[in-house]
Amino acid sequence: MGAFRPKTLKEFIGQKDIVKNLEVLIAAARQRNESCDHILFYGPAGLGKTSLAKIVANEMGVSFYSVNGPTLQKPGDLVAIITALQKNDILFIDEMHRLNKIVEEILYPAMEDFKLDIVIGKGPSAQILKISLNPFTLIGATTKIGLMSDPLRSRFGALLKLEFYPPKDIVKILKRYAAYLKITLSDDALKEIALRSRYTPRIAQRLLKRIRDFAQLAELKKITTEDVLKAFEVMGVDKWGLEKTDRQLIKMIRDKFNGGPVGIETIAKAFGEDQRTIEDLYEPYLIKIGFLQRTKNGRILTRKCLESQLKFD
Ligand code: ADP
Repeated sequence: MGAFRPKTLKEFIGQKDIVKNLEVLIAAARQRNESCDHILFYGPAGLGKTSLAKIVANEMGVSFYSVNGPTLQKPGDLVAIITALQKNDILFIDEMHRLNKIVEEILYPAMEDFKLDIVIGKGPSAQILKISLNPFTLIGATTKIGLMSDPLRSRFGALLKLEFYPPKDIVKILKRYAAYLKITLSDDALKEIALRSRYTPRIAQRLLKRIRDFAQLAELKKITTEDVLKAFEVMGVDKWGLEKTDRQLIKMIRDKFNGGPVGIETIAKAFGEDQRTIEDLYEPYLIKIGFLQRTKNGRILTRKCLESQLKFD
């Protein structure tokens, strides 16, 4: 998968507004021979936040370091990484909304003035050690911008929201990926996959990889819509792009909680899943297709969902 990631903004499909913004940010920074402004990408999982961060590093011609927010437990964890950055390097922090508060506070002066203020010792003898850093760019990513604190959010120069991809963009991504996997599909077959990909490149790729397995075993030269539909039948992916676990989740809310409203904690517990998984992986798409609503009193299945004649097995 790594080799497939788009490497330049030109290669990156869709998200036109973001690409335009990044072009300006990068060109201006290069002209000034300065680090690029700090950038925050937000939006659902699998839409290309990490890929874009790597592209920025590539286009700036600098090194890319990546870390997952919640793994930075102590100030020292961040200090070790941030002091090792060379001029204009990119530090990518995923899951920004789960950053430890103390670590977050160290980031403020680092982002603003490329300085670290480290408190050494405790009580009256405590001293503040000031360290100058090389100018760098922080690129943050989050699926939940609402959970980030104002001071942190406001220190980013650019806040860029990734949107779900229209199926025509997903078709383009699938075409590229099919060429990379060295498989051939009819245009209609590609469209069919795109329609079940939940507007998400990562899911499109996953489905195409599975279909390749089916095609390989059946020794198909060119994959048709019929082949794709057969594969989806076995994989349990329905025409909305829902998979078995999605349907189980819907069924549970319908049968156990009378369609809602029901709190997310209750859903997570009853479903035996982490609350974050439900919120990050299942919910955004169900909301996007109008099957689920988030209300003050909890989650509710919509009439559209209840009347959609989902096949529960
Ligand atoms: P995120 O960080 O938002 O979860 P990623 O950047 O990891 O998403 O992208 C998920 C997968 O989808 C990667 O394999 C990436 O190569 C692919 N991808 C995402 N956006 C695009 C795009 N616009 N064009 C081509 N591939 C993409």
